[in-house]
Amino acid sequence: MHNMLDLIYELWFLRRDLVSDGYDFALKRLAAEMKGQMTIHEYPTGEPCWTWQAPEKWSCSAAYLETLDGRRLIDAADHPLHVVSYSLPFEGVVSREELLRHLHVHPRLPHAIPFVFKYYQRDWGLCASSMLRDTLDEPSYRVVIRSKFSPGTLKVGEVVIPGQSEQSFVLAAHLCHPAMVNDDLTGVLVGLEAAKALLSGPKPYFTYRLLIVPETIGSLAYLSHNEALIPGMVGGLFLEMLGNDSPHALQGSFQPQSQVDRCFRSALTALDAHSYSAPYRTVINNDERQFNAPGVRVPMLSLSRVEPPGSPNWPYAEYHSSLDTPAIVTEERLQTSAQVVLDLIEAWECNQYVVNNFKGEVFCSGYGIWIDYLTNPEGHRRLFEIMERCDGSRTVADIAVELEISFQAVWEVVSQLQAKELVWLSRAPNPTDPDRRLS
Ligand SMILES: [Zn+2]
Repeated sequence: MHNMLDLIYELWFLRRDLVSDGYDFALKRLAAEMKGQMTIHEYPTGEPCWTWQAPEKWSCSAAYLETLDGRRLIDAADHPLHVVSYSLPFEGVVSREELLRHLHVHPRLPHAIPFVFKYYQRDWGLCASSMLRDTLDEPSYRVVIRSKFSPGTLKVGEVVIPGQSEQSFVLAAHLCHPAMVNDDLTGVLVGLEAAKALLSGPKPYFTYRLLIVPETIGSLAYLSHNEALIPGMVGGLFLEMLGNDSPHALQGSFQPQSQVDRCFRSALTALDAHSYSAPYRTVINNDERQFNAPGVRVPMLSLSRVEPPGSPNWPYAEYHSSLDTPAIVTEERLQTSAQVVLDLIEAWECNQYVVNNFKGEVFCSGYGIWIDYLTNPEGHRRLFEIMERCDGSRTVADIAVELEISFQAVWEVVSQLQAKELVWLSRAPNPTDPDRRLS
C-alpha cells in the first residue's frame, strides 16, 4: 500500500485540467489504488447537466513565449501553469502591450507562476512570475499556444461503502488543479484514505460515497444524473487543503442547524484544539455549493486547513500558484486529517436521539454513576445537565450544542447511561413505538 505522499509525488505535476488526458491518467491511477472499489462515471462532451453541460476535452501540445530573435522566456513544457487552463490556441507576433493583456501574474508572490483558468470566458493566455514580466522591455514578442478543443468524456470517480441504511453521506474532493498539491490532491488522498479505512472496518450505519470530480461541473454531472439518490443524502463533507500547517477549518452548510452541522461543529473541537468553525461560504468555496444549492439542499460542510478569513495569506500562502508543491505538505498532517475525517464520521454514526428509560431524576448512586460534586463539580453538573436533556427530542449533537460542550463529552455520558439501560438511542425523534429500538 502506498502512503499518501508517494501518490502525490506520482500525480501532482500532471496537466489535470477538467477534461484532459492528465485528469484521466490520475483518476485511473487512483482507481487502481482502490483495487476495483472505484466506479468511474462518464459524461460525454455536451451532455446536459441541469443548466450546464459537460465541457470539451482540452489539450495543449506546446505553449511558449519568445523574443523575436528566438530566445524562449516561458515554456509550458517546463511548468504546466505557464499556459492558462482551457486557453484558446494562438500563434503570432504581438506588441508588448497586447502581450501584457494576456500574461497573468500572481497578485502576491513575485516568484510564482499563478494558476489561471478560462473554462467559459474563452481567451488565450500565458502565465509567468511577476519577476519575469517586469523584465519584458522589447516592443514585440512571439506567442505560440497550440491548444485543442475536442469531444471528450468528463469523468467522476465514486467509491461506495455500503451501510446498513441506504441513506448516504457524501465525501467529495476535486482533482482538476494541474501541477498543484495542497489544492487539490490532498483532499482527494485524505478522502481515499478515509474510504479505505471505512471499507476495511465494520459495516457502518450510513452508506458512504466518496466522489472525485473536476470542480463544479463534475458535481453537477453526478447530481443531475443521480437525482434519485438526492433525497437519501443526509449530509456531506468536502475535503481540500489538508496538507499545510494551518488549523482545521470547518465550514458549515447552507443549513447551519442541520444535524450534520451540529454534530461536526461540536465534535471537531475535541479533535483539534486549534480548529475553528465558520458559516457557509466564509472559508473557501468549492463543490459543496452544488450540494447545498436549490433543488439539492444536501447539507454539505467542508474541512480544510485554512488561515482564518481576513488573514493576509488566506487561504494559505502558496494558494493557486507554482509554489503549491509537495514541499509544503507532510504525510503526518495528511494522516492527522484523515483521522479527523474518520473521527467526525464516527461521531456522525453515533448521533442519534437519546430516549429516556427512566422517569424523574435518576438515582445516580444506585446505578453507580454518581459523580461527587465536591471532588468533580464540573462532572457532577454536566452529568445532570446531560441527563435532563435525554427525553427523546434531542440528539447527542443537540445536547452538545445546547450545553456548548464537545460531542464526545456528551457521548461519554450517554454511552454510560446506555450501558446501564437508562437510555436508548433512536434514529427518529420522540419515538413511541418500542420496536424502534430494533430499527
Ligand atoms: Zn482551487
